[in-house]
Amino acid sequence: MIRRIDLRSANTGRAAGEPFDYRTALPRADFDIEAAVPAVHAITEAVRTRGIEAIREMSAQFDGVEREDVRVAPEAMSRALAELDPAIRAGLEESITRLRATCENELERDVVTDLGPGARVTHRKVPIDRVGLYVPGGLAPLVSSVLMNVVPAQTAGVRSIALASPPQKDFGGEVHPTILAACAMLGVEEVYAVGGAQAIAMFAYGTGPCERVDMVTGPGNIYVVTAKRLLKGVVGIDSEAGPTEIAVLADDTAEAAYVAADLISQAEHDPLAASVLVTTSEALADEVDAELDKQVSVTKHVERIRTSLTGRQSGTVLVDDLDQGLEVVNAYAAEHLEIHTADAAAVAARVRNAGAIFVGPHAPVSLGDYCAGSNHVLPSGGCACHSSGLSVRAFTKSVHVVDYSREGLADVADHVVTLAEAEDLPGHGAAVRVRFER
Ligand code: NAD
Repeated sequence: MIRRIDLRSANTGRAAGEPFDYRTALPRADFDIEAAVPAVHAITEAVRTRGIEAIREMSAQFDGVEREDVRVAPEAMSRALAELDPAIRAGLEESITRLRATCENELERDVVTDLGPGARVTHRKVPIDRVGLYVPGGLAPLVSSVLMNVVPAQTAGVRSIALASPPQKDFGGEVHPTILAACAMLGVEEVYAVGGAQAIAMFAYGTGPCERVDMVTGPGNIYVVTAKRLLKGVVGIDSEAGPTEIAVLADDTAEAAYVAADLISQAEHDPLAASVLVTTSEALADEVDAELDKQVSVTKHVERIRTSLTGRQSGTVLVDDLDQGLEVVNAYAAEHLEIHTADAAAVAARVRNAGAIFVGPHAPVSLGDYCAGSNHVLPSGGCACHSSGLSVRAFTKSVHVVDYSREGLADVADHVVTLAEAEDLPGHGAAVRVRFER
């Protein structure tokens, strides 16, 4: 079912010391952000130029929903909370408690540096004023993404929070009730029934009843993530958190049934989701293939999973040893990376590029999707080599506060004047001198 790519030395010329570019050899989807740009640009431009009318048209076209007022009424939210299944509520509460604990612990504080008498620089952390949070709802209503967005934003002290999720045809054009209930639990009142690229454009430009936001965060499909890339700069973004990826680095100690189940769990998200096994053991690769055949046939979303696993973005990569396996996973920079090897913690410590790392057989990605206390909004498409997953820190920015007295300035004045002259900017030096000439 899943294709096999043999990158062992004999096939790559590595044994002869030849350079090898893993990035081009590793599986990636054909339909990527670059390919989606024309379609998404048309959507974001329509929202920019025609506003709420364009949003209504796209909801009709992509979600099959005709809706006049895109903002969700407060009664719909309180009704959803009242009707929420108690077991789901308990799960959400556990997830919120764990996430809040990590957010509070990870919150950065101001840093004050005294550089001499009367010379102080403070690195002050300031929450973003207003954010737009995206919660996916195309193929599955990702209520967990409400928590992953809202809890860190609230912990950071963001004053104004808006949230958008696709309108659901099966629920009379309303946002999915479980998503609304989670919003109500967390006290989020400004919710829009708008999905896809049009939701990101609505936040970025300030469209209809939605005032523009300073930053958009949250995961989404290829259209959502492409809109985030196109509108970055018009609005801040967290990371390009697009179609899900799982990479598993495994040796012959791995349990094939666990590995297969975890590959399937992420393939379940999207036909474009990627599941990649990197292994030193051909025997394990064969066992995982057999497990995939067995397990996929009894899953609910079998077509979606098959499409994802058989797509160009998925595969099993054979490597010589764990050193090469680490080179491969660092080059791939997966959104999620599981380590199923002997001494998994030591192997995990050598990973540099991954959105989140799951160590050993008892830390499946599904745990991180809901209840680990970590965040599930993570960079995909190789962006984990430069971007971080969503956290409380993403919702703050920092500003240097420069607080010098006359005495503090006097201590460094000559250096400022000299450096200003070296740059042929004498006005800079004069601005210091004038303070000592009176
Ligand atoms: P979604 O809400 O992201 O997308 C649904 C919207 O896509 C629809 O409302 C519609 O407006 C738009 N759309 C659908 N078809 C379109 C088309 N042909 N042209 C333009 N727009 C179109 O929900 P989803 O589709 O279920 O996707 C959720 C995604 O989020 C999955 O890819 C999943 O893997 C990903 N995800 C990523 C992370 C992460 O952190 N990287 C976390 C969770 C989920």
